[in-house]
Amino acid sequence: MNNTQSLEVKYPQVKDLMNGTPIFWKNPDYGQSATLPFSKADIFDAVARWDRFAPYIEAAFPETAQMHAVIESPLIELTKMRSAWNEKHDTALVGGLYLKADSELPISGSIKSRGGIYEVLKFAEHIAMTQGELEETDDYAILRSPEYKHLFAQYGVMVASTGNLALSVGIAASTFGFKTTVYMSRDAKAWKKAKLRANGVNVVELDTDFSSVIPQARKAAAEDPRIHFIDDEGSADLFIGYAVAAVRLQQQFNKQGIKVDHDHPVIVYLPAGVGGSPSGVTFGLKTIIGPYIHAIFCEPTHVPSVTLGMMTKLNNAISVFDIGLDGKTAADGLAVGRPSRIAGKLMRTLLFGSMTFEDPTIYKYEAQLMDTENITVEPSAAAGFTAIERAITEVPAFNTANATHIVWATGGSMMPESERRVDHNKGEALL
Ligand SMILES: *Cc1c(COP(=O)(O)O)cnc(C)c1O
Repeated sequence: MNNTQSLEVKYPQVKDLMNGTPIFWKNPDYGQSATLPFSKADIFDAVARWDRFAPYIEAAFPETAQMHAVIESPLIELTKMRSAWNEKHDTALVGGLYLKADSELPISGSIKSRGGIYEVLKFAEHIAMTQGELEETDDYAILRSPEYKHLFAQYGVMVASTGNLALSVGIAASTFGFKTTVYMSRDAKAWKKAKLRANGVNVVELDTDFSSVIPQARKAAAEDPRIHFIDDEGSADLFIGYAVAAVRLQQQFNKQGIKVDHDHPVIVYLPAGVGGSPSGVTFGLKTIIGPYIHAIFCEPTHVPSVTLGMMTKLNNAISVFDIGLDGKTAADGLAVGRPSRIAGKLMRTLLFGSMTFEDPTIYKYEAQLMDTENITVEPSAAAGFTAIERAITEVPAFNTANATHIVWATGGSMMPESERRVDHNKGEALL
């Protein structure tokens, strides 16, 4: 790309992105009307599919039994973290502060258990109905039988991932019996690769960044029609799998007495990598919960791929490398230089805005969350905390006692103790 100069003229904040200056980009198209390719019916279709699979999930993943196979995370009020936050910041946060702890989701310990597992379920159902005799009214626990395992073994699932999508897809697909291959980029953590291999997944490591891994995986999958490729850069199934979160969150709001209306805004802070998971969740929130819930994406200053794409309206036609950034971040789930094909387009009218942060700050919040609430998240998952200060100072309507702030903690409960300790030390040094 050699016309970045004209981009800077048209969109002055591009210059800040190029310089690595943390920004708050307010989406000028937020709240306008738009025709979207997905609807509320798509979300409820997915809810029904999860329900059909409940007997299978409960049997195949015993850790889900106590929640009756509903793969859902708690919404945790962070009272102590809020006090600590207020001690360290000039502007006090007067609304409620909550953590949507997807870090505790079963199977992958991350938000990827929503989209990744959902897409595997949908593929398994498709194979079982078209090549087997499964019907919607059956008890899906039958899919654990040797006959179905044999059928699934004739098919394959492939995915490219920085780590967590590989965990969720890899473990789910290999449990059904699919031949499962994951392609991983150089920033993928060793413990994630080891866990996948222990689950019988074929792990292919490529010494390159994530955006370059995807085309290679896509090409390998295209060589065999019996292989289903889970495309993190544009899959509709992943997207809808993430959107289901909103139905569950609405139930949690009702149960926990959290109001959402004109006088009770809810602000949700979501880390964005390729943009698929935060966009799917945001689509769900706007569709199910409505106009008074506002989503803000959070990205590293070195990898503001979704922000750059949305700001310039070029979406996936521009990458952070095109504006001279190196794409490097300690937040491995966010190390994605080019955004998804669908995220920016779908978010054009649904996203309130986005914020960029400097890497060290996520360690600070990760450590603070451990110290105050004894909750472990991975660095990417602490990104939401970095956006609160500017949101409440620059949008006064967000800093009222009636507002609720929800940091979406996207992953981390499966992080090994050794890694947790290293992160904590980095964060302590900054507190
Ligand atoms: C995948 C992931 C993200 C970002 O999701 P995208 O769909 O890539 O935008 C954020 N945090 C964690 C922990 C993740 O695993």
